[in-house]
Amino acid sequence: MSALLNVQDLRVRFRTMGALTARATGMKVPFIDAVCGVSFEIRRGETLGLVGESGSGKSTVARTIIGLQSPVSGRICFEGQELTELSASQRKPYLRRMAMMFQDPVGSLSPRLTVQALLTEPFRIHGLSDRDTDAETKRLLRMVGLPADFARRYPHQLSGGQARRVGVARALALSPDLIIADEPTAGLDVSVQGEVLNLLARLQDELGIALLIITHNLNVVRHMTDRMAIMYLGRFVEVGSTEAIFGQPRHPYTQALLSANPEPDPDAVLNRIELKGEVPSVMRRPSGCEFHTRCRYAQDICSRAFPEPSADEMDAKHSFKCHFPLERSPLPLKPVAPGEC
Ligand code: SF4
Repeated sequence: MSALLNVQDLRVRFRTMGALTARATGMKVPFIDAVCGVSFEIRRGETLGLVGESGSGKSTVARTIIGLQSPVSGRICFEGQELTELSASQRKPYLRRMAMMFQDPVGSLSPRLTVQALLTEPFRIHGLSDRDTDAETKRLLRMVGLPADFARRYPHQLSGGQARRVGVARALALSPDLIIADEPTAGLDVSVQGEVLNLLARLQDELGIALLIITHNLNVVRHMTDRMAIMYLGRFVEVGSTEAIFGQPRHPYTQALLSANPEPDPDAVLNRIELKGEVPSVMRRPSGCEFHTRCRYAQDICSRAFPEPSADEMDAKHSFKCHFPLERSPLPLKPVAPGEC
């Protein structure tokens, strides 16, 4: 099956200061590279997870795909159509087929609009004013399991879970082929998180929507995604099927992230790997492998040479960028019973 969305070598750059100020402050360049050559594809009905710490560039990738941010280079193809070559008006019909769920469930909804106005706003934005707004509101509320009388409520009258359902309903308004969900469970209680994820999974099943889930919550990734990409300082450091990466991470950064993920089994003891220090600033990227300042396996070459991508010997679709990828061996991350060594 051909890809619904195909992103090739995407690069996004933000200007931080004028050229003169940059020179005066000793910065070589007055901009930062927020996304550095990211490539991936999503097929219809598939779910891809983008994982990484804050500032890794995940949300910038999403904002660039839906046209809220311009790339400096790279290709974004939707059903074979290269979007970056189109004018804003030519791009609009394609953007209509993608919807974004923003991070903060309540804060992302305009406080002055009723639920009905929020749900039908996408029709107005896209010039579909002939739609029956009452009927559409009822349809969308039904799809996300909310009563019809919620149409008259305002965002402050909604719980976090209800606001998230309204966010999902709004994303569904234009019957998209792709939904980009930025931290879909952020700010929600654990029980409500499960409800929202089950709702998304059910809708995806029924409607065949592709999902791009951006999160640092690895339980969400494990529960929801077919494939995952791990981002560090604007680059993918490991990409593969969720099963393969959870089963055998090959990049030390992925290994550390997975080791910090709480296991459902309360008796399990994890070999948690502490990451040294903070994520470096993208304004001052480390040389060579950019993870070397925090990597427990770093050797001399790591600070000198950028690692080229390599693929797993058993799975060509599982790739990683590391000079010394972790061995294909039983995981040191597997939970062990208390008292066991
Ligand atoms: Fe660690 Fe070196 Fe691999 Fe980078 S290239 S992740 S520093 S071992």
